[in-house]
Amino acid sequence: MASYNPKSLHAEEFINDGEIRETLAYAEANKNNVELIDAILEKARPRKTATGCTCAGLTHREASVLLACEIPEKVQKIYEIAGEIKQAFYGNRIVIFAPLYLSNYCVNGCVYCPYHMKNKTIPRRKLTQEEVRKEVIALQDMGHKRLAIEAGEDPKNNPIEYILECIKTIYSVNHKNGAIRRVNVNIAATTVENYRKLKDAGIGTYILFQETYHKESYLQLHPTGPKHDYDYHTEAMDRAMEGGIDDVGLGVLFGLELYKYEFAGLIMHAEHLEAVHGVGPHTISVPRLKRASDIDPDQFDNGISDEIFEKITACIRLAVPYTGIIVSTRESEEVRGRLLHLGVSQVSGASRTSVGGYAEAERPHDTEQFDVSDQRSLDEVVRWLMENGHVPSFCTACYREGRTGDRFMSLCKSGQILNCCHPNALMTLTEFLTDYASEETKKVGFEMIERELARIPKDKVRAIARENIEAIRSSNRRDFRF
Ligand code: SAM
Repeated sequence: MASYNPKSLHAEEFINDGEIRETLAYAEANKNNVELIDAILEKARPRKTATGCTCAGLTHREASVLLACEIPEKVQKIYEIAGEIKQAFYGNRIVIFAPLYLSNYCVNGCVYCPYHMKNKTIPRRKLTQEEVRKEVIALQDMGHKRLAIEAGEDPKNNPIEYILECIKTIYSVNHKNGAIRRVNVNIAATTVENYRKLKDAGIGTYILFQETYHKESYLQLHPTGPKHDYDYHTEAMDRAMEGGIDDVGLGVLFGLELYKYEFAGLIMHAEHLEAVHGVGPHTISVPRLKRASDIDPDQFDNGISDEIFEKITACIRLAVPYTGIIVSTRESEEVRGRLLHLGVSQVSGASRTSVGGYAEAERPHDTEQFDVSDQRSLDEVVRWLMENGHVPSFCTACYREGRTGDRFMSLCKSGQILNCCHPNALMTLTEFLTDYASEETKKVGFEMIERELARIPKDKVRAIARENIEAIRSSNRRDFRF
């Protein structure tokens, strides 16, 4: 029997089933232990330091106790602290991105995913480079600067060379004032050599959802294809890091397995990356299972309510304060609105989950991966964020300046975000407003920018930000590297 060892490179030792089960038992035994819960909450609070702000984070055991706790006042405290951490490290900024589906060819048999090989109801399609260009132009014309590319796993149709060619095409398109400045990649687990190629191609974050940390369920949910190999999949982030990618994004697909098990596994995975590579995950995504072609989510027993989903998100915020949390358009405007106060720092906007869905705007598109709940335009999402006090950010500066991995984490910890990220967010928002926004959104946006400029602590930084914003508005722009 494998034993628990967060520093091990073997999946069954760092995501150790015995340790997860003991954690769940410990959490259950302590879910009404007010003294312990108060101590954990106290530990999770952000604290001011001479140079900025710090936050201890929580171990998977501590965080699991909070997730198990059902005492209303304590749950309320979890939510309050989640909001405080979000404010302390990310401020009121929300980073915006969109997925770009390159190909739905797939050789796997994942039973929850419409791309599964046996699904004959979904037309298979792979974008040509000309079609990639058209998609990118459509995305740029909305105002997007940051993409997450998505593809099924198919070594013949979507080999790494195809993915690399697409990345090159995406970065090469400059339509009007448009540019995609960061391409994140969500493709199947691969080799160190291929991760190195992705790194060399200039990708941002490598994202791979674990789907489930429960090995037995994993094997049943992925009955055929290369993804069936639980260890290879679970150890993918270690190979990505070995290949030089230091921004990696974790996630589980909530609804497949019991959420408390998944939560403990997710935090243990984050602890493992920190223990072995000295840097935790850059992001954690919180996707929930959705209806799709040939997929009925009701056939899966572990669906979670909105309330539990919110609690999970808040507990992630407390456990890993320096990790961004991503919520996609799988979720409705209402749920997304609530999650934004519980620690989410990135949202997608105006997403199409179909291959070719941006340039061919009709809906529903026949290759859609799953139903999206939030179908608003990017302009609407941006205005909605601002009306609710959030600053939409299209900034990619950290990545472009090489502040990835532990260098990003130290910026986060230094509390310099208001002097660094905030002006960049305002400048990229100005680009969006000037180039792509409706009159109504412009009005809300420029009023917000005035208010937010005043919050920049350093006079010199504020003056430079104002000067740059004026340059962008007068179209006298240069590449500011944000
Ligand atoms: N092929 C890659 C892989 O195997 O990891 C990733 C690409 S896939 C397009 C991205 C993610 O979509 C998957 O990791 C899975 O979590 C999610 N997904 C699949 N089916 C889904 C469904 N029915 N509802 C919501 N999300 C789903």
